[in-house]
Amino acid sequence: MRDIFDNSYARLPDRFYTKLPPVPVTGPQVLRVNDALARKLGLDPASLSAEVLTGNALLPGTDPLAQVYAGHQFGGWVPRLGDGRAILLGEVTGDVGRRDIQLKGSGITPYSRNGDGRAWVGPVMREYIVSEAMHALGIPTTRALGAALTGEGVQRERRYPGAVLMRVAASHIRVGTFQYFAARGDRPALRLLLDHAIARHYPDADGPLSFLAKVVEAQARLVAKWMSVGFIHGVMNTDNMAVSGETIDYGPCAFMDTYHPRMVFSSIDQQGRYAFQEQPNVAVWNLAQLATSLLPLMDGDPEHAADEATRVLEGFADHFSPEWMRLFRAKVGLTTQEDGDEALITGLLSRMASSQADFTATFTALTGGDPGDHITDEGAWDSWAPDWQARLAREPGDPKATMRAANPVLIPRNHRVEQAIQAGIGGDYAPFHRLVDALARPFDPRPEDANLATPPRVDERVLRTFCGT
Ligand code: AMP
Ligand code: MG
Repeated sequence: MRDIFDNSYARLPDRFYTKLPPVPVTGPQVLRVNDALARKLGLDPASLSAEVLTGNALLPGTDPLAQVYAGHQFGGWVPRLGDGRAILLGEVTGDVGRRDIQLKGSGITPYSRNGDGRAWVGPVMREYIVSEAMHALGIPTTRALGAALTGEGVQRERRYPGAVLMRVAASHIRVGTFQYFAARGDRPALRLLLDHAIARHYPDADGPLSFLAKVVEAQARLVAKWMSVGFIHGVMNTDNMAVSGETIDYGPCAFMDTYHPRMVFSSIDQQGRYAFQEQPNVAVWNLAQLATSLLPLMDGDPEHAADEATRVLEGFADHFSPEWMRLFRAKVGLTTQEDGDEALITGLLSRMASSQADFTATFTALTGGDPGDHITDEGAWDSWAPDWQARLAREPGDPKATMRAANPVLIPRNHRVEQAIQAGIGGDYAPFHRLVDALARPFDPRPEDANLATPPRVDERVLRTFCGT
């Protein structure tokens, strides 16, 4: 096979990482290989053996390393985090552009702190399922190239089967990577990192300020897309925000069933810092940390630079709001713009909240079902529907087609993900495979997958998710 690796991050100075191979495991066994993605990357799916997926064997051309970064975790500053359970194998350069190939759960590194460097099969399945579902929904995300069992146990609340995920990303450069070098006052490294990130993600940015503007725009669009499908990231620490604008780090994430703007799933997010409707605010908070890290690279008077950066941050809303409106207009069948649209949409959302309606099922019921089954508050549906119908009457084209293309039928519902994980712990991976297969077609499911669209019964609801460590 032609050597398709070209490891640009590994050519940065050695204070950006520690070079080391994955720690071998005793009993590698393939869980799943994403053949289609492998081919897109120019990799032969057959080369993704159990040995390769667990890091026991390395593909030719890789140059494995653990990246260093810092971050704010729930607002608290941690000066050094880094890949404590991941190894960047290298970068492939195929038709889709440069992509990182990383192993997650691949053993101890200098950044493991008190951790064991491992992952258990639950979080690996969760990330596989949800990241691939995000991709199918058209939302920028890291992806799952494969997963394998290690044949070893991992001790958490109990002993679980160990696993490794092979993850693909446009890069693993985080807000926290910039913070790491800024906090150390390492201006030369910051400059190199900026040039590297610009070359990879925003080649037409011409300096720190325009780079910041690009990241702000990418994150604003990304978070608006999350909101449009009811996604809660759950752990939006600055080390979990990629400057590429891809969704990264599927820990205690969840898609809402019942809609509520203050919904939280993560067991460790007791203050609701990362609640559903807080996500745009948190994104701005994180981007402000990026802006602060970039200030030393900005020319001229520092005060002027800070003002300029603030102005760029304030631009978040200028990208977020139109994208949010575009997405939610489509969800109710609108492609044109009228002044009353926002009130129409928020009117629906507030009725959904007070009726404890299922987010996904309510929107799909607008085209195929009875929304009144979901918007059950007394008179709530009847007080909204006439305005909506009147608005639809002024809409050219085919509103139903607009809605069908905007409202997924299938999302990775928590209780299904949890069922797949529980079955996996017992050695049955069929529900995992079925879920991954089904979620590849979120807008147009196969008839046999239709039951995966059903919201959980009250006794099936999963209201807490846990960090996948
Ligand atoms: P996360 O909350 O998954 O974003 O992880 C935060 C930090 O903890 C990162 O530096 C991880 O590499 C590290 N970490 C998480 N789990 C483990 C583990 N099992 N072993 C070592 N490091 C870990
Ligand atoms: Mg992380």
